[in-house]
Amino acid sequence: MKRYKSILASILAVFMVFLVSCGSPTPTKPPTYTPETLEQISSYESELLAFRDRMTELDGLIDKPDWVNVRNLIHGPLGDLRRDMSYASRLLLLPKEQKAALAKAREVFRHLENIDLAAEEQNYPTARDNYGEVLKDFDEFLELLPTS
Ligand code: ZN
Repeated sequence: MKRYKSILASILAVFMVFLVSCGSPTPTKPPTYTPETLEQISSYESELLAFRDRMTELDGLIDKPDWVNVRNLIHGPLGDLRRDMSYASRLLLLPKEQKAALAKAREVFRHLENIDLAAEEQNYPTARDNYGEVLKDFDEFLELLPTS
């Protein structure tokens, strides 16, 4: 009986240690952005603003409409946008922002693909709708980027 008790006691002791370690985890600092990363993000942001400028050229081209140059713009100057947005999101952002940013980047590209397709079919209403959406999603992506 004595032996049984001591085994039980040691099991309880282990259990208590387990409980204590679960209940009060050692405080860890929440992940934060280093000044270097914030600097990289800010220069990346200026790059994105240049992309945004090019993107607004779609407005006039869709209005004309100049479908050939709508497609040229999407495949040319805006062609690197998807790669850049996902690469920078993965490289620079912390997990929480990264997930949302990657989802937004996918949205941006979905709308650009829709505009491209609409241009091919000379479908003005669809091109128009997606142009409004792509700018909105792009700006929401920019808002997800942390600022110093
Ligand atoms: Zn959207």
